[in-house]
Amino acid sequence: MKINVFIFTSQTNKKPMISHKNPQLIDARVTLHKWLSLATAIIVLFFSLLNIVALNQPSLGFVEGGFGLLNLYFYHQAQQGKMQSWHSHILIASLTITISYAVYTADLRAGSAYWLLVLPPLYCLLTGSKRGLFYTIALSLPAIAILFIKSDPENYLGYRSVINFVLAYFLSYVICYLYENQYTTRDITLQKMAFQDPLTGAKNRHALKLFFEEFNKKPIDPFLGEPQETHLLIVDIDYFKSVNDEFGHDVGDSVLIEITELLHYYTDNDQVYRIGGEEFLIVLQKHDGKQAFSFAETIRRNIENSVFRYHQQNIKITVSIGIAQLNKGQTFKEFFKVADKNLYSAKNKGRNLVHHDTMNISEAM
Ligand code: GH3
Ligand code: MG
Ligand code: MG
Repeated sequence: MKINVFIFTSQTNKKPMISHKNPQLIDARVTLHKWLSLATAIIVLFFSLLNIVALNQPSLGFVEGGFGLLNLYFYHQAQQGKMQSWHSHILIASLTITISYAVYTADLRAGSAYWLLVLPPLYCLLTGSKRGLFYTIALSLPAIAILFIKSDPENYLGYRSVINFVLAYFLSYVICYLYENQYTTRDITLQKMAFQDPLTGAKNRHALKLFFEEFNKKPIDPFLGEPQETHLLIVDIDYFKSVNDEFGHDVGDSVLIEITELLHYYTDNDQVYRIGGEEFLIVLQKHDGKQAFSFAETIRRNIENSVFRYHQQNIKITVSIGIAQLNKGQTFKEFFKVADKNLYSAKNKGRNLVHHDTMNISEAM
């Protein structure tokens, strides 16, 4: 039999378990993409008409017209919530090509080169700081070449205008990079404070509320019907009060941290929530009742077989687990009523047990 040994370590060594895929940042990018597509479409279509009708530059006008219509399509897709990452890259490419072409073909004295300075911040905001830097450097080379070729050496020296351009161009990237970095760091900190339990690093009730909202929002595929079953487990430590009473509150805290680590270890999708003092919830997506039951049994058995060691003393920990299926439209309150009933059946039958309405241990094994 495998015995896990937990020797309590300092709590400050614990790594926070939180996803770095930041939904707020992604939302901000989608919003920027949407409105930038529309703004680009309007501006580019306006210049397209101007170039075709008034300035007698039909080739530039038609290129701009094509990009303008493409951006209208991106705006429409983003509006419908169907934005894809390649849209952003094409938006960037269309902006870059349109501006570069304008700089190349139009008289520099008209000021079209100033538009190049808008690009680094957009690269950074739309694709993130690393890809943004790549785009910024990639465009700088043709942009410098165009400026150098088109500078008028009789009136001013080409290299001076290029140096000024390069400084302003990269500075605009740096400013945006600093802003983006600060925003990301602050957002991750806020996200942790809002959605992570500070003691154990598990997700908290706010995060669970979001999970329920997301779960209920997902549309049912008319062809495939209901997606595969989702089961949730409520894991409650048995007689935890006596651990605190016997070993002290700090040791109790350490047990909570170690139990959370163990739950994270077995739950590869990081769906562990601390919903009460010594009560946790685990989400099992794509698990039917039988699979959820055997998963819960594995956890129960592993905790039972673990040794929590404190100053030469072994602390025995067991858990009781209630399982319930999560149905679409169910609120946390409604779900919890069923799961809690199952948890208390496990407690009433003597603890260190798993209980599911439709199953008992002998059936599941
Ligand atoms: P049962 O088997 O019926 O669940 O018994 P229990 O003692 O685990 O349950 P009870 O609800 O009586 O006590 C829960 C205890 O959990 C009481 C409280 O001191 C302890 N607790 C709650 N939150 C924390 C915490 O953050 N740290 C520590 N150390 N203890 C906590
Ligand atoms: Mg308990
Ligand atoms: Mg409890």
